[in-house]
This record gives sequence, structure tokens and C-alpha cells, in this order.
Amino acid sequence: MSQQTTIRKLAELVNTPVEKLLEQLAEAGMKFSGPDQVVTSTEKMKLLGFLRRTHGKTEKPADETAAPKKITLNRRKVQEVTVAAGRSKTTVNVEVRQKRTYVKPNEADAPVVATTSHTETDPERAEILRKLEESKQRNLQEQQRLAEGDRRRAEELERKRKEEEAARAAAEAIARAEAEANAANAGEASGEERPARAGGHHVPKQVVRKDPPRVDDRNGAAAAANKHKTRGSHAMVSGIEDDDAASRFAGQLHLSAAERARRTTSRGKPKPRRQMEQSRGGGGGAHGFERPTAPVVREVAIGETITVADLAQKLALKGGDVVKAMFKMGVMATITQTIDHDTAALVTEELGHKAIRAESNDAESELLAHTEEHQGDKVSRPPVVTIMGHVDHGKTSLLDYIRRTKVATGEAGGITQHIGAYHVETPKGVISFLDTPGHAAFTAMRARGAKLTDIVVLVVAADDGVMPQTKEAIQHAKAAKVPLIVAVNKIDKSDADPMRVKNELLAEEVVAEDFGGDTQMVEISAKTGQGIDELLDAISLQAEVLELKAVQDGRASGVVIESSLDKGRGPVATVLVQQGTLKKGDYLVCGIQYGRVRALFDETGGQPASAGPSIPVQVLGLSGVPDAGDDFVVVEDERLAKDVAQQRDAKRRESRLVKQAGNRMEDILAQMGQGEGQQVLNLVIKADVQGSVEALKQSLVGLSNELIRINVITAGVGGITESDANAAVTAKATVIGFNVRADASARRIIEANGVDLRYFSIIYDVIDQVKQVASGLLGKEIREEIIGTAEVRDVFRSSKFGAVAGCMVVEGVVKRNKPIRVLRDSTVIFEGELESLRRFKENVEEVRNGTECGIGVKAYNDIKPGDQIECFERIEVARTL
Ligand code: GDP
Repeated sequence: MSQQTTIRKLAELVNTPVEKLLEQLAEAGMKFSGPDQVVTSTEKMKLLGFLRRTHGKTEKPADETAAPKKITLNRRKVQEVTVAAGRSKTTVNVEVRQKRTYVKPNEADAPVVATTSHTETDPERAEILRKLEESKQRNLQEQQRLAEGDRRRAEELERKRKEEEAARAAAEAIARAEAEANAANAGEASGEERPARAGGHHVPKQVVRKDPPRVDDRNGAAAAANKHKTRGSHAMVSGIEDDDAASRFAGQLHLSAAERARRTTSRGKPKPRRQMEQSRGGGGGAHGFERPTAPVVREVAIGETITVADLAQKLALKGGDVVKAMFKMGVMATITQTIDHDTAALVTEELGHKAIRAESNDAESELLAHTEEHQGDKVSRPPVVTIMGHVDHGKTSLLDYIRRTKVATGEAGGITQHIGAYHVETPKGVISFLDTPGHAAFTAMRARGAKLTDIVVLVVAADDGVMPQTKEAIQHAKAAKVPLIVAVNKIDKSDADPMRVKNELLAEEVVAEDFGGDTQMVEISAKTGQGIDELLDAISLQAEVLELKAVQDGRASGVVIESSLDKGRGPVATVLVQQGTLKKGDYLVCGIQYGRVRALFDETGGQPASAGPSIPVQVLGLSGVPDAGDDFVVVEDERLAKDVAQQRDAKRRESRLVKQAGNRMEDILAQMGQGEGQQVLNLVIKADVQGSVEALKQSLVGLSNELIRINVITAGVGGITESDANAAVTAKATVIGFNVRADASARRIIEANGVDLRYFSIIYDVIDQVKQVASGLLGKEIREEIIGTAEVRDVFRSSKFGAVAGCMVVEGVVKRNKPIRVLRDSTVIFEGELESLRRFKENVEEVRNGTECGIGVKAYNDIKPGDQIECFERIEVARTL
């Protein structure tokens, strides 16, 4: 089948004279010699982009009011910059060439986006736009359909078909008359035509030959409009195939509902023509009978992994049948089990269908195409700054000072809100600060590939000098290729010695400007505010050197900085817009979540109507809580948003499973076993008390022998934190929690990366388990599984029951007859059993997530609000390698 569209065909499809189209293509910078030349989908996209751009510019002056208010200043000036060197100051002349666009996001309140508006004054262009847009939409939809269930698709098709049929009654009537006239021909001709068709695409002759041009056009258009329903992903390889398919389906508008549904089953791919015509019984009319079809060979797209149930659905079989088939092949699997691609492919072939490897990024690439075309002109954007430094050097104080004094407060009594970031307006421009100091956040973002920060402000206390975390911050900034500005803090203190700081930084290859280097250093006091303006100036200057730019108009994209679940407002995410403008009402995909922007909040508690590049804003309206570091993209419709989110979710789960499979201690050892020499087992150890940490460390390291080395990469007292989890991910380490637990953010990382996390409460168990694993012994393993957690909200004391904790079950289920532990600050303080478990004075056996209950702990009366009660189970599992 040919996969190409000529200019002539495209012109026909978009209902524009060929000459006009050629002219437009030429204007868009694409030269074509004649109407029979082939247009690629990239060229189509380019044309679409071009048309949109010219529309936006020439025909919608109203856009100026719709777009955020911009002021662009061009200037060139010589400026004196004072660089502090110890207690003396040097003045340097700096020539600054500036072109800066100031943006007031709050005024960008226009509901209309020029690029997607169809109200253009030039009807021809508008029509082309619309058609191209339609064609693209169809692409999108077809691809999505790949991932969807067949049944749902068929229902949807049927519904939409009815709607459209009503709207196109007239066109249909003509089409039907034509097709019926042609039906006889088709019946006769089908035999002779077969060999020709096998060779390539073929427009049914009768339609092309006999239709008067108008009717042909209409058929084409109607078919084009319909084809996203009658066809599937196959044509998604490029938009071009669509056109062929459109022609191919011209004249087949009046298919019966069942026929349509049937054709779109299995990946929506149109069946070979021969098969189709057979099943149509040679007749083109709605009343044609259906001959029994040949066995349907489905092409099933299978990704890296697939569950048996999903595979069954794709094959249109019952789950049990697939399980049975697998059983016959010697593979035992349950219906919910995930099997790998190879197994799935074998089963598929065995069942007489064809397995193909799924394009892993269907919806993603679509999303890319969707966002790429919105690349408009770039304008300057404010810098995004992260503050880093050693603990207690004043990061929080600096962020607070700037926020307190510089954030333009809203109407609500001038109270600034913590939304994870804020932006300040200085005389030299806007600066956005990420309000989460600390390296863990920075590295976690980087680990996810999010490039958020343009400039790092390294806070070094003048009375303390360069410390371990100072060095770490420098390494992070260097690794991320982000320029540093040093803020020498606490300059107000009597023992401040900024010169010492500069000298020490020299050793880290951070050279101050007055030492001949290129790092700006500013002496500040986060307490008195001294030097803060200079620091902001230094940031602005650095930003200008970086020439930061972003597309201002169009659909927004960016990164999630912070997120949480708010009781009243639902999932709340603070995002940093990196491109385009985010508006209320936009549909967006955000990591594995999606939704429609219900409200935007800024750091002053105000509700801006939109947010442009580099502006942080809190978003309400998502389906769930995304992870910090997730990206977000605004898309045109909810459907795409939902599909991309769902596909990502599925992929994340799959890869987690795969990772989990490969990350267990045993597997790592098994993998290493294939190599030469000594194997290494990395461990992260966290325990409730220092004594345990030491004991564990020593005894575990002591298990090392010539074959295996036990390597403790970090060990310490306290709950398992985000940085422990990140360390474990990097080192592929197993995390051992001895009487301590992972906090929520650590758990997220652990889950997402499939880190092997094991909780223990008996030192001997730890040693035993590691020893067994290390010596490759297999056998039974007792694993503890936490089945539920309840949070103590209130404690009541009664003479009869002692202390009864009023709790809310926040995870899983708490069962009366299972052992429990009481945790305070992520540390185990008691282990025992439940005395009583009640709901509304009634004794119950179990209480589920989201439910309140009263818990009495046997032989323990010291329970306090804020404690956690975790209910666990000991299960015996066979060790596997
Ligand atoms: P962080 O751990 O880096 O966030 O440091 P903090 O902002 O919490 O500051 C640690 C301590 O240093 C606090 O007690 C602050 O009050 C104090 N501090 C911060 N900046 C200054 C400063 O410029 N001058 C003085 N004298 N104290 C400061």
C-alpha cells in the first residue's frame, strides 16, 4: 500500500485550489515543482504551523489584547558593577546589551488562544487549518485507540457515527446513491481487481471515475471525517496514509453499525480489502448481508510486558482461554499476572494471531507532535533560581527575607503563601525562586531529568566557611552545568570572614571575579537584609548573560515543583511554567495525572488567570497527585490528556515491575555472579538507635568473604528519608530499615524505582537474611508485610479500657488479630497486639483505609496523638533467585 500523499490530493482533501496550496507551501519555505509531488507529514505539519503563525500575526490583531501584556525594551548601556573583595570593593565597567520583554502574567486573561481559534477572517485558510487540524486529530485519536479496548471503541464509533450521520444526511444520500450504483460493478470487478490491489493502495475506480467532482469531494471529506472511526492506528505511522485511506473508504459511508464496529476491532486496522469485500458480500448497501468471514488474524501490539488479561482483551478472547493456552504450552500464569513480551508473543502466535512489538511511545510521540507545532517566537524569560548550601548557613532565612520583603503581596492582607516557589519583581526584572532549599530536592529533580534551575545561589556562612554540603552543592551545580552565584551570608556577625570563604572556595575551583574568575560573590546578611539587593542584581546580570528565552504564547509546558493532596481542594500541584502560558480551563497531562485547570493560585494567594514562562503557579483540578519533577503539558482536549496519562501510568507500573524483578538483593547478586571476581552487595542501613546502626554495620560488613563484599553505602539513625532512597537508587542498594520506616517521599522513590526495602526488628534476622542471600542459600524466608497504617488523632482514657486511640486508617487495612507496632517519628516504640478494634462502639474485625476507628493497644498505655499504628503480617515465602 502506498503511504504517500501528493499535493493534488492534499489540496483536494483540504478543499483548496492546487495553485493556492503550492503558493502557501512556498511561503512556508517549501519548494515543490508540481502538484504530483509528494508531501510528507513533516511538511504538512510545517505548513500547518506556518499557517497558524501567519494567522496569529496578520489576522488577529485582537491577539495583542488577548496575549499577556508585553513591553520589550532594547537598550545598551555601560554599567558599573561593584564587586566585593573582602572588605574592599572594586568597580568594574560592564557593557550590557539588553533586550528584555517584561510580562505581566496577571493581565493575560484572554480566553481565546489565537492558534486554535477557528474564527479567522480568511475563510480559505481557516478551512485548510481546520482540515489539517482534523486530520491531525484523527491521527491522535487513531493512535489512542491502539491502547484502548475494542469494545469501547466500537461503542464510541457507533455513537459518533450516528451523530455525524445525522449531520451529513445530504452527503450520505448522494454517497449512497453512488455506491449502490457502483456496488454491482464492485461485485463483478472484485475478482479481477484482486491482483492489482495486492500491489498497493487503490482508490475504488468506480468512485473516482463516476463521481462528479463535487460529490467526490464530499465523499472524501465525509470519509475523512469518518475515517478516524473506521480505521485504527495503522495509519498513524504518518498522516499521509490517512489520505489514502480516506480515498479508499470513500463510497463506503453507509456501512452498517455492526460492520463499522467489526472493521475497527482488533487494533482498528482496516482489514485487507479482499477480506472486507468478502464480508460485505459484494454489496455496498446498508442492507447487504454478511458472509461468514475467514478466521480473523489479529495483529496484536505487545509492549515490554503485558498482563494476561490485557492480552486476552487484545485477542478478543476470554482470559481463561489465554491461561489455558499458556498452560498447554507449559507456562503457568494467572489472569492478572504480567508476562514478558516474548512469552506473550509465543502465546499469540500459538493462538493463530500475529504479535508485533508495540511502539512504546505511541501517545507520547503524539503528544510531542502536538506540542511541537506550537513553537512560536522566543522571548526572554525570568531566571529560575535554587538556593543551596550547608545546613544552617542561612538558606531558609535568605528565601524568607526575599519573600517577606520583595514579593508583591496580594489583597488578602499581604500574606504570602507557601506554594513551593515564588517570584519577585526587581527593578532589573523578575526572578523566580524555588522555595525548597536543599540538595535532595535538586538531585531528585535532576535524577528525573528535569532541568528547572538556571542559576544556583550558593549560600556560605561567613563565620563558618566551606563545609561538606557546600562542596556537594558545588558538585551538583557543576554536574548540572548551572552557573553559581555565591552569597556570603551572615556578614553582620562579628566573626564573619568573607575573605576566608573566598579562599576556601578557590580550592573548590570556584573563583571569585576579583580573583580573576567568573563567579559573582555577594556579601549579604539574611538577617539585616544587607546586600540582598546586590544579590538580586547579580542574579539579573547572570540571567542576562545566559540569555534565557522561552516561547511565550501557546500551550504551556513545564515541571511540577511540589504537590500534595489537600483535604478541601483535592490534588494540588505547584508547577513552574517553562514554555507557553498556562491558563484556567486548560487541559493538561501532568506525569501520570491529567485534568483541567480549575484554578490557579500564586504565592500571594491571588488567582491569576494565567502564568507565563518561569512563573510558578499552583494548579487545582488534577485527577491525582503528581510527583515533584514530573513534567506537565497542556493539550487541546481531555481525551489526549487522559490517554497519555493512562499510558504513562501503565508504563510506569510495568517498568517498576521489571525493575523490582531486577533489583532484589538476590537478583543483583545473581547478575553479578555472572561476572568475574568478588561480588558487591550495597546496603543502606537505617535504625532507631546508634547502637543498632553500629551493630548492624559491623556484623553485616563482617559477612564479607572472598566471593562477596558487603558494602554499607550509608548508615544512620532515624527514618528512611528521600536522600537515603536516592542513594539506594544510585547504588542499586538494598535498604534495611531496622525499627524505622520510610517517610512518604522516600516511599515514593522506593516504589517508583523498585528499590528492595526490607524492614526488620530483630538484628539476628537481618544478619541471617543477608547471610543466606550472600551465601546463595535458598529456602524459606519470613517476610513482614505491612498491611495497614492508622494515624492516632486523639487519645481517650477510660477506666475500663485504659488508653483508647481515636485513629484514622490512612493506608491499607488494620485487622484485629494481626500484630501491630506503634511508631513515633518513623521509629518503632512498641510492638504488640491489639486489645480492641472498634467502630462506633462496636467491635469489628477490620477497618479499612479512610475510616475512623478506636484502637486499644494491649499492654501499652503511652500512646499519643500523632503516633502511627501499623498492622503487619508475617508471611513465609520461598526464596527465588
Ligand atoms: P539553613 O539551614 O541553611 O536553611 O539555615 P537557616 O536559614 O535555618 O539559618 C540558620 C541559622 O542562622 C538561623 O538561626 C538564622 O537565624 C541564622 N542566620 C541566617 N542568616 C543569618 C545572617 O545573615 N546573620 C545572622 N546573624 N544569622 C543568620
